[in-house]
Amino acid sequence: MVQASSSSTQPTQPVQAAEHVQTATASDGGAADHGLPLIAVLATGGTIAGVQASATSSSYVAGSISVDQLLASVPQLAGLARLHTEQVANVGSQNMTHAVWQALAARVRALDVDPDVQGVVVTHGTDTLEETAFFLGLTAPTRKPLVLVGAMRPATALSADGPANLFAAVALARHRAAREQGPLVIMNGDIHAARDVQKIAASGINAFASPNGGRIGVMVGVEPLFHGHAQSAFDHFDLDTLGPAAQWPRVAIVYAHADLQADVIDALAAIYDGLVLAGVGDGNATDAALEALKRASAAGVVVVRASRTGSGYVGRGAEVDDSAAGFVAAGELSAQKARVLLMVGLTRTRDPVCLQEIFDRR
Ligand code: ASP
Repeated sequence: MVQASSSSTQPTQPVQAAEHVQTATASDGGAADHGLPLIAVLATGGTIAGVQASATSSSYVAGSISVDQLLASVPQLAGLARLHTEQVANVGSQNMTHAVWQALAARVRALDVDPDVQGVVVTHGTDTLEETAFFLGLTAPTRKPLVLVGAMRPATALSADGPANLFAAVALARHRAAREQGPLVIMNGDIHAARDVQKIAASGINAFASPNGGRIGVMVGVEPLFHGHAQSAFDHFDLDTLGPAAQWPRVAIVYAHADLQADVIDALAAIYDGLVLAGVGDGNATDAALEALKRASAAGVVVVRASRTGSGYVGRGAEVDDSAAGFVAAGELSAQKARVLLMVGLTRTRDPVCLQEIFDRR
């Protein structure tokens, strides 16, 4: 039942996908009772599809090769699964857009109810991979395995990490144990839950971690070894009720630092529906910044306090009186994930009390 459409390499817009089903004849090692499982691979670009001028060059262009070229570099996949491929976009994920998210979430939902498909893999740049994974967890609840994967080295590099990551992603996506865990991220052999995973390093192949909860599993050959189960602990937002991506609420992130002034916050508050503070420590900021955020809140801009530290918990009322200010506390969510949750949450309510409940439920 899988469907497809034409391919394109438009830089930032979602493209209708080109269907390509690759059949394989090798054994899958017993994962499927009747032949190889069908895994859908939705490609969005990234370094995993990046190309250098030479194999030793440090510069490259992300999102350069097609999904079928990418898969052709991993012939061992033929022993794991039949692959249905779609080129949803082909961008460096620094250019990921809400429009691509919307298109991607719609395909994930469709494939989840497609009886022919056993699991879905999304190839993605690493820069915003965690945001896409989190967004899909909010808007595309799945029963089947949904695995996001990227690479830190381009496809043409010496010791490219993409092929092994992709192999592991397909192996994970065909596995029953990966079902009903929401989006999973696999990088460098580690399995992470979408709500916890973060890119924590700008370089090196071990660039992903789950700072609060830890990874939830590892791949041992073609088998996942789970240490825990990623409860799909997301509030789910119906994609259809979000409306066109261009009309989604606008949420900006303010990065706190020593001597942060009010002017940047006042300027943003005039044009955004919501502000997330990537605060110092437990979501804190200068008195001037907090006063500006209170002004924003009083004017109807929803303010969420998160932390720039990369881990830990931002609770209500520790050093900032959230109730008096009308602020929302982000809990364990990073500022970039709090931005996603606030954006979709604002399509449901602008009430900070209700939004705090949404943040607490996740
Ligand atoms: N800038 C690239 C991207 O996010 C980096 C990567 O994929 O590793 O698409």
